[in-house]
Amino acid sequence: MGAIQAIRGTRDILPDEVGYWQRVEAIAREVMQRAAYREIRTPIFEQTDLFERGIGEATDVVSKEMYSFKDRGDRPLTLRPENTAGAVRAFIEHSLHAQGGTQRLWYLGPMFRYERPQAGRQRQFHQLGVEVLGSADPRADAEVIAVATDFLRAIGLQNLSLEFNSIGDGSDRQTYREALVNYLTPFREELDEDSQMRLTRNPLRILDTKDATTQKILENAPSILDHLSPESKARFDQVQQMLTDLGIAFNINARLVRGLDYYTHTVFEIQSADLGAQATVCAGGRYDGLAAELGGPDTPAVGWASGLERLILLLQQIQPLPIAPLDFYGVSRGDRAQAFALVVAQRMRQLGFSADLDLSGSAFGKQFKRADRSGAIACLIIGDAEAESSTVQLKWLKSGEQEEIALANLEGMAPELRQKIAKGREEA
Ligand code: ATP
Ligand code: MG
Repeated sequence: MGAIQAIRGTRDILPDEVGYWQRVEAIAREVMQRAAYREIRTPIFEQTDLFERGIGEATDVVSKEMYSFKDRGDRPLTLRPENTAGAVRAFIEHSLHAQGGTQRLWYLGPMFRYERPQAGRQRQFHQLGVEVLGSADPRADAEVIAVATDFLRAIGLQNLSLEFNSIGDGSDRQTYREALVNYLTPFREELDEDSQMRLTRNPLRILDTKDATTQKILENAPSILDHLSPESKARFDQVQQMLTDLGIAFNINARLVRGLDYYTHTVFEIQSADLGAQATVCAGGRYDGLAAELGGPDTPAVGWASGLERLILLLQQIQPLPIAPLDFYGVSRGDRAQAFALVVAQRMRQLGFSADLDLSGSAFGKQFKRADRSGAIACLIIGDAEAESSTVQLKWLKSGEQEEIALANLEGMAPELRQKIAKGREEA
């Protein structure tokens, strides 16, 4: 029997790579905090019904990508394919609307979709997302886009472009849907198979097709922008003006519709020119109908989600990861010395230093080599003599200087050691 492997479409994030994730997560927290967004953490699985009602049964996500199963109590459950539905469910369940005003939320965590794995596309992937609940103000639309832009810029990404569109409200979309179906029906037989099916179930999604023939047919299709009511059009213009005021460049893309059913008015995607086929690093829009759809009060809302795997792929191309800083590396030899070294290393950690301890028991020479490779600023050297006298030889690796410190004095000397470590790090 072979060894067990990870499930197809899932990935282990190993220690050599995890630094990228930690950096992206730290930047996300900082950007969100500065913009006064508060974190929400919802369960990874929910009632299947939440996603069917929230995202829409005719969407790709619900019709073919969900990880759904029954638990031992025969309840239909689904691993969350996205977090907007869960966040809105929590918002309703805990009456966050009763707190008044606008709720600005963010989240970060794993999502699950049954998709064909490829670069930047997995079955378990991670999203950072924001949801602004309770504001119909076009400034909320512009703000979430600005926060996304700040986040992507803060992690150092370049060559990004913002695709921006309005899909109007329900009645705009109804008139547009008819116009689109009228235009496409004579071409029915020439459309790709998916688009033929969508013609009755979800015609707007045809605009999203990757099929070349269908794309060609779409070139002369009516535009959603010619079907917006004067109010929807005014709203669209307002958000554009705000983006301009914020210095955020955008392309109006009348073909952009997004895959989930709950969007209204603003929809957008941020794409990277440095990724292959999976170029979208952030996507979102306004979804004024979702809270009511889920049984809550009418709550205008706008948000986005960003796929972190794709951001990390980009980050790996542009920035090497700095080695994790280490203060001390402990080497010891001899039974009593090894036991005492454990105590010293742990003491250092308790005093707030980082300390690695060589557990190999190999010759001092080999341990010193590892100390050099570890990136530590100083080495803690302990032989049986040191163990006998409860002292430690402290060797500063850059200068080669060495000093002896008694265990009893470590705490008192900690501030001085901290300064020397900081200086050593500057010189390194
Ligand atoms: P796509 O067209 O790439 O399938 P989508 O419309 O399904 O995207 P959303 O549901 O809006 O995407 O999710 C927002 C973002 O999450 C995407 O832009 C992408 O960065 C990321 N994402 C979506 N699905 C996956 C996946 N299977 N693996 C990795 N990242 C993903
Ligand atoms: Mg998708």
